Amino acid sequence: MSAEPTSLTGTLTSDELRAERVRFCSRCGAASDARGPSGPEPGLERVCVECGMGVLLTCAREAMPDRSDVFLVVTEDLSISAVSEAGEGVFGSEASLVGSSLLSSISSPLGDDKLTRLIAEAATGSREVHTIPLYAAGPRARRFRRLDGRIATCGPPRAALIVVAGRFDGRR
Ligand SMILES: [Zn+2]
Repeated sequence: MSAEPTSLTGTLTSDELRAERVRFCSRCGAASDARGPSGPEPGLERVCVECGMGVLLTCAREAMPDRSDVFLVVTEDLSISAVSEAGEGVFGSEASLVGSSLLSSISSPLGDDKLTRLIAEAATGSREVHTIPLYAAGPRARRFRRLDGRIATCGPPRAALIVVAGRFDGRR
């Protein structure tokens, strides 16, 4: 037994840097520093210490939402499993959204087939990050212009993270 796994530190390729994993709160979007001074062993705490409500999820650094971003977490069967606090202002309350179909809240001018394919890929672990145009169909949707969605994998449990960006206060 002499073969050690190659160390991940030291000589990261750009692909490996892009694949760097970070943790964020499914509710408030706060980044979690897994090397915090207190609490359980790094990597084991599951509930956000910032808001006490969200579950900590892991995603690629390039896909991580900013705090106060509008985002949804969606399972492979296109069921919404989490919505950020900011997302509630766009898509409706967490209580009304969790468990509902994503396609009741979002569609894409590229077609729902494309949208659902990208989400299914992300929800099953694809490391690709895609940005596609979206329309929101939430309670305030008529006030929105076209939005963009950044789709990436996150977990555990494995799911798709959709960070929605655009002018939510869009005026005609
Ligand atoms: Zn939080």
